[in-house]
Amino acid sequence: MSRPRRTILLVEDETSITEPLAEALRSEGFETQVAGTVAEALELARTAPDLVLLDVMLPDGSGFDVCRELRQSSRVPIIMLTARGEEADRVVGLELGADDYVVKPFSAREVIARIRAVLRRVNAPEPEHGANVAVEIGELRLDPGRREVTHRGKALELSRKEFDLLELLMRNAGSVVSRERLISEVWDTNWFGSTKTLDVHVSGIRRKLRDDPSQPRYLHTVRGVGFRFAAPGEA
Ligand code: CA
Repeated sequence: MSRPRRTILLVEDETSITEPLAEALRSEGFETQVAGTVAEALELARTAPDLVLLDVMLPDGSGFDVCRELRQSSRVPIIMLTARGEEADRVVGLELGADDYVVKPFSAREVIARIRAVLRRVNAPEPEHGANVAVEIGELRLDPGRREVTHRGKALELSRKEFDLLELLMRNAGSVVSRERLISEVWDTNWFGSTKTLDVHVSGIRRKLRDDPSQPRYLHTVRGVGFRFAAPGEA
């Protein structure tokens, strides 16, 4: 069975990066489009690429603006290309809804491995019957089939990772879920950046649920271990 070729939109202005990377992507069987500016990126994004590799520093603006703009209307997987040492950049990118990031300087091989991992997760088949049943705890309802979370009947805007994390916690409501398990099921086990990233996503969920970490109704921190979501009768 042949599958249509995947298209990668590479948004980066440095040709010392785009030329070898675009060549490596093509030789791995990806269609590759290159945009060197924010304007070109938004233009090319209309052709519905399968994944966007997005640099932060662009000549006419920031990759974060591109990320924010794309997320208004699209769930296209986004991997940010960030400068070494710019921890804040990674956090901002993930908060804006990017799926992952790679730190410069990177090898084409590393980027391609990351692209495959993200595409695999995004295109994973629907879970088995039963896994699609909505979970309700307190005034919170999570519907995996529609990928929708509502609180007091109002839809919450969660990023893909926040949703996955919340789903795992809610499915295990009442039990502690370890940080290791959250990281390995929601991200890649061997992802060096995940510990900090997990906390960023937990904070994001708490903010959106208006759940006070010092007096939580839903999401409890279990120091040194992980997190526990309130059981249905508890919240
Ligand atoms: Ca750049």
